[in-house]
Amino acid sequence: MSRLSRRQFIQTSSLLAAGSAVLPQGQNAVQAVQAQESKTPKPKKWFKGQLHTHSQWSDGSGLPEMVCYFYKKNGYDFYCLSDHNNFQNDSLRFTGFGFKKEPEDKSIFEGETSTWKFVNTKSGWAQMTQAVIDQAVEVYGKDSVKIKTDKDGTRYVRLKPFKELQEQFEEKGKFLLIPGFEQTGASRDGLQVHMNFINVKDYFPYIREANVVDTINANFEKGKEVYANNPEPYVFTLNHPQWPFYDVTPEALIQLDKVHFWELTNNPLSGGPAVPKAWTPEKYWDIVNAYRIANRKHVLWGTGSDDLHGLKLDSKPFLGWNMVRAEELTTRAIMEAMLSGDFYVSNGVTLKDVHFCPESKTLSVSVDPEAGEGIKIEFIGTKKTFSRPFETIEHESPKRSISAYAENIGVVLKTVEGTEAAYTMQADDLYVRARVTIAASKEERPKYQILFPTAWTQPYVN
Ligand SMILES: [Zn+2]
Ligand SMILES: [Zn+2]
Repeated sequence: MSRLSRRQFIQTSSLLAAGSAVLPQGQNAVQAVQAQESKTPKPKKWFKGQLHTHSQWSDGSGLPEMVCYFYKKNGYDFYCLSDHNNFQNDSLRFTGFGFKKEPEDKSIFEGETSTWKFVNTKSGWAQMTQAVIDQAVEVYGKDSVKIKTDKDGTRYVRLKPFKELQEQFEEKGKFLLIPGFEQTGASRDGLQVHMNFINVKDYFPYIREANVVDTINANFEKGKEVYANNPEPYVFTLNHPQWPFYDVTPEALIQLDKVHFWELTNNPLSGGPAVPKAWTPEKYWDIVNAYRIANRKHVLWGTGSDDLHGLKLDSKPFLGWNMVRAEELTTRAIMEAMLSGDFYVSNGVTLKDVHFCPESKTLSVSVDPEAGEGIKIEFIGTKKTFSRPFETIEHESPKRSISAYAENIGVVLKTVEGTEAAYTMQADDLYVRARVTIAASKEERPKYQILFPTAWTQPYVN
C-alpha cells in the first residue's frame, strides 16, 4: 500500500466503512480515493498576468532578461514577451525587427546560438546601446551579458533565447513565462493591424491583405493552420485597434466574430476621443458586443496590456493586465481559463470575486475594502432594442471614416457605491458587464477615463 496522507487516510477509512461493495471493480480503497481526488476540481485562484511587452528582441529597450526580471519583481504571476514578428529562438542570426548588421568576421560566432544584436553608439528607436547593457550589468553583473567584438570594432550582444529565460525565471506555482509574439504590420490600405499569438513558439511572416478585415482574417487563419498540432491551446488577440488613429473599426470586429479577444486597454493615449463623437475603447467594446450578441455571435472579451517598450527599472508603467482564474499556474490552465472567458482586466483595482449565475442571470462582484476610497461598481449593458442607425464622420487628416453609434449602446444599468453589488439581467438586456472604479484618484488622472484605476469584468450574455 502506498503511503497515505492524513486526508487520504480519513477518506479511505470512510470508504471502507461504507463497505467494499461501493468501490468500482478491481479498485482498492486507496485507488478509489486517488481517482476521486483527481476528479475533484482544485480550488481556483486568481493569477496576474502581462501578455504584451517588448524587449531588445524587437524594439523594446530592455534586454529580455531585464523585462522578465521587472515583471517578476513587480508581482506578476505570468508573463509573455511578445516581440514583434519574431520569437526568441536559438538560431544564429544578426537581424531582427528594427535592426540589421551582419558581422564581417562570422568565424568568431562559430558554435554560437541565438540572435546577436550590434551595439549602436547612437541611441534611437530599437537600438542596442551601452545604457541597455549597463541596466543588466547593474542587476546581474558584467558576466551576465555576453559580448563579442568584430574586426571593425563593432560589438555584438547575445540575446537570451526563450528557453534560457524560462530556466532563469520560471518557478513552479510562482512565475510562468508564456511564449508568444506580436504579428505586426499594416494592411495594403495603410492601416495598422497588430495581433498577438500567445502560447506559440513559431512565428510566420505577416500576411498583408487589401484591407483590415482581410488582413486580420488571413493571419488568424494562417495561425490556425501553423499551430494546428500544438500540444496546448493558444490565444489570439487583436491589439490596440485605435492606434494610431481609429485604424481598426468596431465594424471589423463585428464582422470577424471568430476573434474572441481584443485589447481594451493598451496604450492609453489611443483611448482619448480625438474625434468627439467617435468611440472610446469602452464604447467600442459595447458596440461590437451589442451587434454580436444581438446576432447570437461570440462575445468579444477584453484584455489589458502595457505594450511596454521603454524599460526603466524604477518606474511603474503598469497600464493594464489580466487577472485569470485558474486551478494552477501552467500555460495550459491559463490559456484554458482565458478561452472560457474566466478573467477580468485591471489597471489598478483588484476584485475579490466575480460570479455569474447562469440560472438567475445575475452578475455579482466584490472588491476588497482595502482597494481604496470611493469604490464604485457600475453595471453596463445594452438593451435588445438599441438603435441600429449610425452616422459616418469623415475625418480628413488622417483620412478616416468613423462611425458614430447610438447613445443607448453601452449604458449604465445600475450603480452601487460600496464593495459588493449584483445585477440581475432583465428580459430585454443583451448582456451585462461590471466596471469597478476607485473615485479617489480621479484628480490624478483627469485626461482619459480609461486611466482611472478600474477593473472591468467580461460581458456576460443573457
Ligand atoms: Zn502593436
Ligand atoms: Zn506591441
